[in-house]
Amino acid sequence: MENNEEQVTRKNDSDQVEPSNEAQSFGNRDFFDWDKDDSDLVDRIRNEETGDSIQEGFMDIRGLSALLKKVPWYVIALSVLAFAVILFAFISESRTTREARTPGARSKSEVQIEIENQDWIEQDLLPINRFSRPGLELEAVNGIVIHNIGNPDTTAVQNRNFFANLAMTEERHASSHFIICLDGAILQCTPVDEVAYASNERNIDTLSIEVCHPDDTGGFTNEAYISAVRLTAWLCVRFGLTSDDVIRHYDVQGKLCPQYFVENEGAWLTFKADVDRVIEFSSS
Ligand SMILES: [Zn+2]
Repeated sequence: MENNEEQVTRKNDSDQVEPSNEAQSFGNRDFFDWDKDDSDLVDRIRNEETGDSIQEGFMDIRGLSALLKKVPWYVIALSVLAFAVILFAFISESRTTREARTPGARSKSEVQIEIENQDWIEQDLLPINRFSRPGLELEAVNGIVIHNIGNPDTTAVQNRNFFANLAMTEERHASSHFIICLDGAILQCTPVDEVAYASNERNIDTLSIEVCHPDDTGGFTNEAYISAVRLTAWLCVRFGLTSDDVIRHYDVQGKLCPQYFVENEGAWLTFKADVDRVIEFSSS
């Protein structure tokens, strides 16, 4: 019974809001019957409501279309090519690396040449191979990743040779840009404009520093610590980075590396503060 009452009520409601015949015919004519001959309506819209400007606009489009038909196909092709080149340049520019964004920062190849003239950085580059030096260009230098070598009481040369031998053993992918020895000597084994295999997904935009350590606590010797701070700060200055851009391997992937700085957060913060001090000293 209630349902019937509702239906009756609704019908009454709808009767109340139903448009008059006049309104319906207006709606049909103007909005729904586009197949009908509405030429007078179109004329009215053009002439009365918006004046001649729309008609002129139609003529402009027709004129442009006719003009385009007269343009040789190769002119159109060249225009499209030029547009593509400009678009590509714009996209490339938007991927600008930090080295170009930071005033005074140098390019990777400039820094590499500078390293070759530093007597406190030795060089013994790895042979180019799939497992430790792929020879791929580093996309950018957006950070510096600190590692420990993970093999206690080994030297920089021993670890460099281990990376070089991966070309033969094909055991795994591993390498670094720099290795700091127990005695503080710094050995570069990958150029700073190339990718090294050390920091997982950050291999593409960071430099890696492996530090040798005397025991399985992962703690650095004083000499290795001082060299790590010096090298990190030197690279930060050249690439326009701050200590905020200096991270642990742990910060990339959660790996226990460098072990001592993961297990001793305070020591890590001290390391970064020491890097800051050297950066400030270098720029003053
Ligand atoms: Zn690591």
